[in-house]
Amino acid sequence: MSQQYDAIIIGSGVIGTAIAFELAKQGKQTLNVDALPAAGYGSTSGSCAIIRPYYSTFHSCAIAHESHFYWRDWDTYLGVEDELGNVKYHNTGILVAKTDNNDNMAPTLAILEQVGAPFVHLSTDEMQAKYPIINTDSFHPARRPEDDEFGQSNGKQINGGLFFSDGGYVSDPQLSAHNLQRAAEAHGAAFRYNAKVHDVRQADGRVCGITLEGGEQIDAPIVVNVAGPHSCKVNAMAGVLDDMQISTQAMRHEVSHVPAPEGFNVETHGMVTSDADIHAYTRPETGNHILIGSEDPECDERVFVDADDYNENFTDQWRVQALRAAQRMPGITIPNRPKGVVALYDVTEDWAPIYDKSSLPGYYMAIGTSGNQFKNAPIAGEMMAKLIDACENGQDHDANPVQFTLKYTGHSFSIGEFSRNRAINENSTGTVLG
Ligand SMILES: Cc1cc2nc3c(=O)[nH]c(=O)nc-3n(C[C@H](O)[C@H](O)[C@H](O)COP(=O)(O)OP(=O)(O)OC[C@H]3O[C@@H](n4cnc5c(N)ncnc54)[C@H](O)[C@@H]3O)c2cc1C
Repeated sequence: MSQQYDAIIIGSGVIGTAIAFELAKQGKQTLNVDALPAAGYGSTSGSCAIIRPYYSTFHSCAIAHESHFYWRDWDTYLGVEDELGNVKYHNTGILVAKTDNNDNMAPTLAILEQVGAPFVHLSTDEMQAKYPIINTDSFHPARRPEDDEFGQSNGKQINGGLFFSDGGYVSDPQLSAHNLQRAAEAHGAAFRYNAKVHDVRQADGRVCGITLEGGEQIDAPIVVNVAGPHSCKVNAMAGVLDDMQISTQAMRHEVSHVPAPEGFNVETHGMVTSDADIHAYTRPETGNHILIGSEDPECDERVFVDADDYNENFTDQWRVQALRAAQRMPGITIPNRPKGVVALYDVTEDWAPIYDKSSLPGYYMAIGTSGNQFKNAPIAGEMMAKLIDACENGQDHDANPVQFTLKYTGHSFSIGEFSRNRAINENSTGTVLG
């Protein structure tokens, strides 16, 4: 006899577990199935887990700002204490460079004013006073090391900065998924690991379950694709790709992990930085280190890969982005032996996620998280639960999109903004910034 659940969630990353939590709270008997050995072992484990409010659309900024309150009140949101400990949110704030090439953030600031996300403008002197390990020279445009001018200032200064107080980072993204698993289990959710989904089955015009590698079948009238960088493979199993205007693709990314400047304690005095002048972001990491990620300048190759077959070793990119960060933070040392993360984003054309139904009744997706949705996991869980409930009760979400109201800030928007068939957002930065 095959096993039967109300909903199967493919993937047990931070978003898959958050969806399980919300569906289980609705009283659904859920099962998360993951190919890896534990919660958050996929791209969630490689995440820099930065919480920041700035994106290129109102709804994205509103959700991202809202997420700050969930992480701040994490224990209350979970309602349980994980035996491994609940993650801690480091509300350090974020220092953002104003440059000509990001229009001094003016379009984003107009949105953030509407959203109510607080920020202050800083002169270059005030930036340096706030974060003494930085200089404010301008290095734009980003270059590759083979360029003779790599690492040289263009002789100007950046135009100043912005400080966003409602932001920071979570130090252990994998543990956050484990926390969510424990919270979901408290409401009856089940989790199965080391189990790879091989097929998504359908009968009588709707999804009816999954088949695991090895042939075991598990049945459910609802299946949710939250497979991260494998999302397009799972969508292919369900046969829903032809109905989608927005696609998802696995993209390789490296995160550099380097010692902080000597004599400066980044764990107590550090903050998140985002810098469109050197095209890198940074955040403090335990052990007085700094994590450095790329903000995807045009001169760097975009490496799309097969999520089951890609180079898991560091390449020259590790050093290039560390050197760019050293332009802004001259005191950091760059070790000979690379340390950090090689991981995959699941990227859409406009670097915004798909939170949607599909052409196959009962089959849903929370995918295309484009390297920027860790922060939003709790809200993605709530949106997906509301969307699934509405669709299962007969609402045609394509024609009449489900509306969503954020509980802390009260902003409302249509979940249709995250449709698989939306128009591509022309205002997207075309980078991880969304
Ligand atoms: C390097 C890096 C840095 C990032 N930094 C940030 C950041 O600073 N801030 C931010 O907000 N976001 C960031 N992100 C993005 C964020 O981490 C992701 O959006 C988020 O973790 C996605 O979670 P998920 O649950 O959707 O997917 P994942 O964590 O990828 O989980 C998907 C799961 O599905 C499973 N799976 C796939 N296929 C199958 C199958 N066939 N059968 C069974 N299981 C399957 C996988 O094993 C995996 O565990 C970053 C991402 C990366 C890679």
